[in-house]
Amino acid sequence: MKIKEFIRASHMKPWDFIIIFTLIVSSFLPLVVFGSQQIPENAEKQAILRVDGKEIETFQLVEGKKGQRYTYKSDIGETNIIEIDGDRIRISEADCGDQICVRRGWASKNGETIVCLPHKVVIEIVAIDGSETDDLIY
Ligand SMILES: [Zn+2]
Repeated sequence: MKIKEFIRASHMKPWDFIIIFTLIVSSFLPLVVFGSQQIPENAEKQAILRVDGKEIETFQLVEGKKGQRYTYKSDIGETNIIEIDGDRIRISEADCGDQICVRRGWASKNGETIVCLPHKVVIEIVAIDGSETDDLIY
């Protein structure tokens, strides 16, 4: 056992070792507590993709998260390419006539929406714990 040899070599009693270990662990505790508090803060937003009022997909908007792409294609081939980059979302490409959804750019705040009227596509950013928005729609 290497630990036992180390304790013996350092002339420490097992209790000393436990006390030192506890001190080391407790010095990291504020960091752990602080770190765990940041998780819900970062994960409080999500974007809901609805087409014609029907929920199709939900994206978690987490700051620092690696970018992802999602392609929505309707039955008749209408396409919206959705890009998620950390805690923001946009429609990067669409084959709709007006291109308003693409030109709208990034959305990242709770309550913000990206609308593609020709495709009946709505992306809405909502707080994960907030259910008020859902009550309004259903
Ligand atoms: Zn559009």
